[in-house]
Amino acid sequence: MKKALVCGAGGFIGGHLVKRLKKEDFWVRGVDLKHHEFCETAADEFVIGDLRDPLVCKKVLDEPFDEVYQLAADMGGAGYIFTGDNDAVVMHNSAAINLNIVDIAKDVGVKKIFYSSSACVYPQHIQEDPDNPGLPEDSAYPAHPDSEYGWEKLFSERLYLSYYRNFGLEVRIARFHNIFGPDGTWTGGREKAPAAMCRKIAEALNHGEIEMWGDGLQTRSFLYIDECLEGLRKLMDSTFTGPVNIGSEEMVTINQLAAMVMEIAGKELSIRHIDGPQGVRGRKSDNTLIFEKLGWKPSRPLKEGLEKTYPWIEEQVRKQKSKLRK
Ligand code: NAD
Repeated sequence: MKKALVCGAGGFIGGHLVKRLKKEDFWVRGVDLKHHEFCETAADEFVIGDLRDPLVCKKVLDEPFDEVYQLAADMGGAGYIFTGDNDAVVMHNSAAINLNIVDIAKDVGVKKIFYSSSACVYPQHIQEDPDNPGLPEDSAYPAHPDSEYGWEKLFSERLYLSYYRNFGLEVRIARFHNIFGPDGTWTGGREKAPAAMCRKIAEALNHGEIEMWGDGLQTRSFLYIDECLEGLRKLMDSTFTGPVNIGSEEMVTINQLAAMVMEIAGKELSIRHIDGPQGVRGRKSDNTLIFEKLGWKPSRPLKEGLEKTYPWIEEQVRKQKSKLRK
């Protein structure tokens, strides 16, 4: 039986990944600062610990695991990353985790390690066009990410790649583009656009109004969690190191995203555009490289993923309302 360690197993992607690895018959140890907020872990062992602490890292990474997935990061939606207020903690926390994990992985002889990077590594100036034709991997340089979160991801990509070159550590790196789905953060300021949109629409009375940051003409692509994991597992089983995009090529404006969710919810709402952090103007994945290397790329329509996500968020909103009433 193959053994895997999932760092960040109490988070959104980590929680789904543990389930997927269990279905594939792995023995799984999960580690996180906290238990999963929305579901019971499927891991064989779940350790609560702070990966900024090297002693914790040594405790959880105590044998040559077949696969290590490093997903733990201090992250959030636009409301957390783009205000500037959290720059120092975001950079320090995530860099400390990666410095610890990669070095101990090398020392204990981990067979393969995955690092989750982000579309946030791409330079700001090539994302000013809402009709962005896509972000090929090599366009990350010359570097100019729009947030310190993106700079830390770029640093850590290079860190893992240097361990690959200097110590032969088998590394795999993907740049995730806006992953969404059930069992993810949906309120509190760290949620991403699809979850925020589902929540606002679920909370609104029919024919009411929702607020949206910016003019809604900024574009993004969003990838449903199942396709993210499919790409991740295929990358892990391949001989390709990366970095490679794991994202969707279906680009929509935020207004179009809202319209899709309204249709799923069966609500007609007006949109009030207000000032707020928006990030770059246009972003979508370019999937040329993933298709070339893995013979696969995400292909499912955005609407399909939203149809699975909206009911889950609607249920969370309902539960929260009934808790407040008590
Ligand atoms: P998440 O916030 O749900 O999960 C991250 C987990 O890391 C959290 O459960 C958190 O508690 C844990 N963590 C943070 N600091 C820790 C520490 N010091 N010790 C132990 N655990 C710690 O985020 P997610 O959406 O599941 O993202 C997983 C990874 O993928 C992250 O590295 C993120 O940067 C990357 N990523 C995600 C997306 C996306 O759209 N979700 C896009 C690009 C990149």
